[in-house]
Amino acid sequence: MKKIRLFTPGPCTVPEEVLIEMARPFEHHRTAWFKELFAECTTQLKQIFLTANDVLIFTGSGTATAEGAIVGCNPTGSKILTIEGGKFGERWGKIADQFGIPAVRHKVEWGHAVEPGVIEDYLKKDPAITSVMVVHSETSTATACDLEAIGRVCRAHDRLLLADCITSAGALPLRIDDWGVDVAITGSQKALLLPPGLGFASVSERAWKVIEQNPQQSSFYLNYNQARKAAEKNDTPYTPAHLLVRGLRVALRMLLDEGLENAWKRVAAMANATRSAAQAMNVEVFSKSPSDSVTALNVPAGVDESKLRKALRDKYGIHTAGGQDHLSGKIVRFSHMGFIDSVDMLGCIGALEHTLFSLGHGFDVGAGVAAAQKVFVERT
Ligand SMILES: *Cc1c(COP(=O)(O)O)cnc(C)c1O
Repeated sequence: MKKIRLFTPGPCTVPEEVLIEMARPFEHHRTAWFKELFAECTTQLKQIFLTANDVLIFTGSGTATAEGAIVGCNPTGSKILTIEGGKFGERWGKIADQFGIPAVRHKVEWGHAVEPGVIEDYLKKDPAITSVMVVHSETSTATACDLEAIGRVCRAHDRLLLADCITSAGALPLRIDDWGVDVAITGSQKALLLPPGLGFASVSERAWKVIEQNPQQSSFYLNYNQARKAAEKNDTPYTPAHLLVRGLRVALRMLLDEGLENAWKRVAAMANATRSAAQAMNVEVFSKSPSDSVTALNVPAGVDESKLRKALRDKYGIHTAGGQDHLSGKIVRFSHMGFIDSVDMLGCIGALEHTLFSLGHGFDVGAGVAAAQKVFVERT
């Protein structure tokens, strides 16, 4: 018997109700049935993003949706500032390069958040910059930035703000309209209780003014103008992954029934408990500005990262993520997203204790779970 416990920062555990919903007999997608489904999902997504802006649904992962946004918001004459403090930030700069969009690629030390003042300096110095792309929660380093403050900077200097909210939407406090985020992007398989395959983007009026003047967009499938035209009729330009959209309605209903702010609190409690447990187990948290949707722990000296992750997987069914690039072998990442709660997190911390102990790490076994318990008790 092996129970699969996904603590990977995407894909994350999907509720049975959502899986069952997607297994039911279905209709064609050019039908009233699908249009109604699409309309309701669009409304729900606006509630998740806390926005009155248009929300688009794409078949494709988060990267596809981000590519469409970067290309759509940067017609000839544009220049983009990308903030690169991890794998995902770097990816957005690479997309700009590939499409020939002039880009200023600002590097941030991995595990640190960008200072909003640094972004402001770029915008003051370089009037040619027309848009800024930031990662709200940089999953590769488990680091969150102050998107609200970055929003203020971009508004003050009248630049478009594109935000990768792939591991923040539905997990961290995120207020698209209040914070002035022009394009917010997320994907189905992180905090939104679905398998991979859909991407979502909210688009402000300011962003539409730019996208509308950019009809070619060097892109056919990911053309935001085409997506908007179809969405106005609760439709998609091409065949959507309509079973995922069907699952989406149930998933978002669950999240909205819980209450968006309660979901944020659930995630924050799991993150706090994990950080507190780490301290009690003599394990360091990697990030200097930790995101609540995923925690990266430094692998303690003397412990083999691959043995640690393999034991968690083989013995307990706990799937984790390792580090990427220069962090490979150095960190292990635990997601707090998806259909999981405090009890799941306690179990995961307990398994981590067993495993660290068996691999020779010195600490007081039980201290991690006790520290986590304290956090959960204080928060209920
Ligand atoms: C997962 C992730 C992505 C990539 O999304 P895909 O759905 O894998 O294309 C981008 N940014 C962040 C922050 C992510 O966590």
